[in-house]
Amino acid sequence: MKSSDLFAEAQHYIPGGVNSPVRAFGSVKMDPIYFERGAGSKLYDIEGKEYIDYVCSWGPLVFGHADPRVVGILKKSAESGTSFGANTEIEIKFAKLITEIYDSIDLIRMVSSGTEATMSAVRLARGYTRNDRIIKFEGCYHGHGDSFLIKAGSGVLTLGIPGSPGITANNAKDTLLASFNDIESVKQLFKSNRGEIAAVIVEPIMGNAGVIPPEQHFLEQLREVTSQENALLIFDEVITGFRVALGGAQQLYGICPDLTCLGKIIGGGLPVGAFGGRREIMEHLAPLGPVYQAGTLSGNPIAMAIGYETVSRLTDTSVYERLETRAAALSSGFAENMRRLNLSFCMNRVGSMMCMFFTENNVSDFSAAMTADTGLFTEYFRHMVESGIYIAPSQFEAAFISAAHTEADIERTIQCNYDALKAITA
Ligand code: PLP
Repeated sequence: MKSSDLFAEAQHYIPGGVNSPVRAFGSVKMDPIYFERGAGSKLYDIEGKEYIDYVCSWGPLVFGHADPRVVGILKKSAESGTSFGANTEIEIKFAKLITEIYDSIDLIRMVSSGTEATMSAVRLARGYTRNDRIIKFEGCYHGHGDSFLIKAGSGVLTLGIPGSPGITANNAKDTLLASFNDIESVKQLFKSNRGEIAAVIVEPIMGNAGVIPPEQHFLEQLREVTSQENALLIFDEVITGFRVALGGAQQLYGICPDLTCLGKIIGGGLPVGAFGGRREIMEHLAPLGPVYQAGTLSGNPIAMAIGYETVSRLTDTSVYERLETRAAALSSGFAENMRRLNLSFCMNRVGSMMCMFFTENNVSDFSAAMTADTGLFTEYFRHMVESGIYIAPSQFEAAFISAAHTEADIERTIQCNYDALKAITA
């Protein structure tokens, strides 16, 4: 059986053959790969080919695939029952742990995906401030909630969809667009919508239009402006939470948001999201307050056990030192390759998330990211996959390094990067 056979069959039963659009590999014009298993830093496809994996399930797998401790807890927890739809001790332990790590979070509510976290956080912000409008940034992706699919990143960007049919005009009207790293664009929106804005939602480090770091000053001013205007500042740390530092981007840049959305790593590979923040705001949620939010599988005991294990292990900060060492070696290896080949593509990295943009421009916002040569990326992607390096099938996604990546993985990846760059620019 080949991946292409499975993809042909899948298209009979699943729209586009996939359960999430970027998995169709449409933008790199090849059939998607079907995987059978993962172990540590490696993935194995159904044809037995081995890949070093830099997708890491789009971020969650900070300890790599089938980590023995995670698998052990999964088995033990499943033997006690998969779901109760009721309260358990582990969800309290996990909530306590996160609130101890994130100074900005007094209370936290668990959900089952990043999308649920951002949708719920925005509803809460609207309920709390009694305002309707939100500001988001071009190229930021906050999941597929109606309020967010306006000039969004990730698959929406990869597939070139500016918005989405099915989102009402009123919904679109309430989402205002600003430019990342451009505080004037935010001030302007506050000025022309005075007293109407509930929240500004931002990926503090953009990770869905490639990786775009924030300017320190930009985040500081965002905090200042939102406070002055009585709007909430929502950090969407679904990618960056527990990835760029234990306390996420808010710890790295020293900014205290009003609400934080988490996902990916906190589930350790299981479907978990969460949103939390100041007590006074979170107390507006049902059952304490009038803002409704609920979930059949929220706080699922298996997911909580895996999440708790994952986050507990991350409190040993030597994990972050290891991630930094590996990621720094990878990015300096890529930079050295470019120097040898006389190329100067833009490399952006924050901790263990990075992106090589096929443009010579410095990428500090969405429009600079748009100058990347996606045709060249497609060729690069094919060479990398061919040589057993699995990266996301889109120029506008991050590569993630896990604690399971070895020095040998990094060395091999640097060599494959050299060969691929040489081949596509010859
Ligand atoms: N927010 C960010 C920053 C994301 O990167 C994602 C997903 O990639 C989401 C929200 C949505 O998370 P999920 O795919 O779990 O719904």
